[in-house]
Amino acid sequence: MNKFIKTFFLVELLKGLSVTLRYFFAPKITVQFPEEKTPLSPRFRGLHAQRRYANGEERCIACKLCEAVCPALAITIESEQRDDGTRRTSRYDIDLTKCIFCGFCEEACPVDAIVETHIFEYHGEKRGDLYYTKPMLLAIGDKYEAEIAKNKAADAKYR
Ligand code: SF4
Ligand code: SF4
Repeated sequence: MNKFIKTFFLVELLKGLSVTLRYFFAPKITVQFPEEKTPLSPRFRGLHAQRRYANGEERCIACKLCEAVCPALAITIESEQRDDGTRRTSRYDIDLTKCIFCGFCEEACPVDAIVETHIFEYHGEKRGDLYYTKPMLLAIGDKYEAEIAKNKAADAKYR
């Protein structure tokens, strides 16, 4: 009898429509991207960058820990000794078509040289466009250093 009444008065249908009606008048939460953006965590793992010290010296000491830890084999490093006896990379490439944005390279780096920025709006039109070389990574680091340092500082107490 109960089932018959529910069927006769279309109770299930009315329940469904009530949900539609409730959400019809509820505040909308759709974000109008790209004009509006949601907040990003300081730990967000986006496009990579290579950082420099304040005096302009590149941080990377070519220890190759990031290359060793990368599970996707996306990093390729070659190094050389400079005239002053220090070691630096002569080649530092990241193939972003292989990268899985795990963040292991950033975690492994002893001098905070390689980092993942908040940048996620980038693209390539052919495979080679997503092959980032050392000058490209340093240029990103130079451009976004203030933001990178701020995010690092915000996350420092949890490391
Ligand atoms: S984020 Fe992960 S996959 Fe990408 S380069 Fe770094 S270690 Fe490799
Ligand atoms: S980026 Fe960091 S971990 Fe990778 S080679 Fe340079 S210093 Fe070593």
